[in-house]
Amino acid sequence: MSDCIFCKIVQGDIPAEKVYEDEEFIVFADANPQAPIHHLVIPRDHISDLMEVKDKEMLGRLFAVVQKVAWQEGLAPEGFRVVNNCGEKGGQTVEHLHFHLLGGRFMEWPPG
Ligand code: AMP
Ligand code: ZN
Repeated sequence: MSDCIFCKIVQGDIPAEKVYEDEEFIVFADANPQAPIHHLVIPRDHISDLMEVKDKEMLGRLFAVVQKVAWQEGLAPEGFRVVNNCGEKGGQTVEHLHFHLLGGRFMEWPPG
């Protein structure tokens, strides 16, 4: 989508600190990190949110990328958090499906 900031990252039109990419997904550093490690895992295709996912098997492949990046970034042994904010009340601010991968500190509960 032409006005989607994450589509612009996928297309290389705006810069991002990429830590992983393959033909289906990219992972890059969040611009406003909430933890020492805070990455965003997104599909290259524009899907606005979790409820708009038609290809459910894509979610399994996306979580395989989460596992890969958790190992790559040294998060796997100690633990980490994966967050998806869905829709307005879920706190979603960018309408391109993304999962936050957060780690490098103890995570608290409940979230705000
Ligand atoms: P959410 O509130 O779940 O929709 O998360 C959107 C996330 O995207 C926020 O954590 C923002 O800091 C992050 N973000 C917005 N624009 C950019 C950008 N250009 N590069 C990296 N992260 C971004
Ligand atoms: Zn998009």
